[in-house]
Amino acid sequence: MKYLSTRGHPGDAGLRGFSDILLEGLAPDGGLYLPERYPQVDAAMLARWRGLPYADLAFEVLSLFIDDIPPADLGRLVRATYTEAVFGTAEIAPLKRLDDGLYLEALSNGPTLAFKDMAMQLLGALFEYELGRRGEQLNILGATSGDTGSAAEYAMRGKRGIRVFMLSPNGRMSPFQQAQMFSLQDPNIHNLAIEGVFDDCQDIVKAVGNDLPFKRRWRIGTVNSINWARLLAQVVYYFAGYFQATPSGDRPVSFAVPSGNFGNICAGHVARMMGLPIHRLVCATNENDVLDEFFRTGAYRPRGTAETHETSSPSMDISKASNFERFVFDLLQRDGARVKALFGAALARDGGFTLAPEEFARIAGFGFSSGRSTHADRLATIRRTWQQHGVLVDPHTADGLKVALEQREPGVPMVVLETALPAKFAATIREAAGVEPEVPPALRGIEGLPRRFTVLPADAARVRQYIEAHAGPTS
Ligand SMILES: *Cc1c(COP(=O)(O)O)cnc(C)c1O
Repeated sequence: MKYLSTRGHPGDAGLRGFSDILLEGLAPDGGLYLPERYPQVDAAMLARWRGLPYADLAFEVLSLFIDDIPPADLGRLVRATYTEAVFGTAEIAPLKRLDDGLYLEALSNGPTLAFKDMAMQLLGALFEYELGRRGEQLNILGATSGDTGSAAEYAMRGKRGIRVFMLSPNGRMSPFQQAQMFSLQDPNIHNLAIEGVFDDCQDIVKAVGNDLPFKRRWRIGTVNSINWARLLAQVVYYFAGYFQATPSGDRPVSFAVPSGNFGNICAGHVARMMGLPIHRLVCATNENDVLDEFFRTGAYRPRGTAETHETSSPSMDISKASNFERFVFDLLQRDGARVKALFGAALARDGGFTLAPEEFARIAGFGFSSGRSTHADRLATIRRTWQQHGVLVDPHTADGLKVALEQREPGVPMVVLETALPAKFAATIREAAGVEPEVPPALRGIEGLPRRFTVLPADAARVRQYIEAHAGPTS
């Protein structure tokens, strides 16, 4: 299987293998990588996969996209990743029934209590393997306001050849998130608390990333959500959710996905393109509704920082959806030149674009629909789900559930992806339902553990100096 850029075209020379794009971010032309075609599953394959344990299912799905890692090695990595010890249950991603035909898919029982662990844990194993094979090292630089940074650190801790430099706004993450990240004592994890806000952190990461000589010299890499391997790992739980929601495999299933950067739901799109019987992919946004607006109108209008709301589902507070270009590439029948015109020139010139009517008309054929949820909706959904079902959902999952309930269709099971546990967002849960969410045993008392972090001013030069002093051998 070869990979191409969303801004290139299928005839391009120099298509890349999986291992080549694993450690990369954007393609050199500024596009995102996608497989040159989607491998197809048929009814016989689905029947064979239905009874598999999660790790074996992951191996089957990944094998269709990865042909440059020996199967025995890939199998070992996958089976070491998706274990009950790491993800809390033998099923890894079990369905919780709320109602007839309405389910939550539990994706948030990994080490950081958010669904990002599902992909990031595998990414840690793949990175360590590939760097070891090449005899290379990598210094991962990132900025986080909470979930991504902790998922990355828990995936990369103790991994050979990898160091993590994670910038966060000093004193601005929730107490639980700070405790989660700063209590890590692994020498390869560096928490840099920046005296500023999240945007300052992101600006520093960009400034360092744009310094190509520095980036090359110190082998700076990222783990952001455009990484193809992360997206691929997420495809697996759509299969797992489908099998559980349709015990006899007699009907398609819809998924509702709390969305921000469009990574999670894009994995659902890939699963559907492979032939998994998905009826609808319901894209749920919060007040930052750039995606809902697109699916309703065909206009893509990324927001500026000033127009980006701080909400009570903070991991969906995005201004532009970084994975969205992948779906548009397929929607536009893989016309890389058109994608380049829209995401390159038009975004730079006009700050957005609007699809032609015949392009917009194709969206229905891809199964997408969308909806929006506000703070009041979130609170009402959390309260109602607690009162009616005795189940607490986190504010992000509540956004998904709110839109799912509006868009359920008779006879079609609806699976809402649970993207975080309520324990991470206790204040909102108290406000909504007046109860204290349960903290899983492994994380009880982390607020009292010793902390390891360094406070730095919002100054790219000081971050560069820190990396130079702490990065490992670079050749
Ligand atoms: C990251 C995140 C999301 C958004 O996922 P995308 O892949 O960016 O669309 C939703 N909920 C939670 C809890 C998250 O951490």
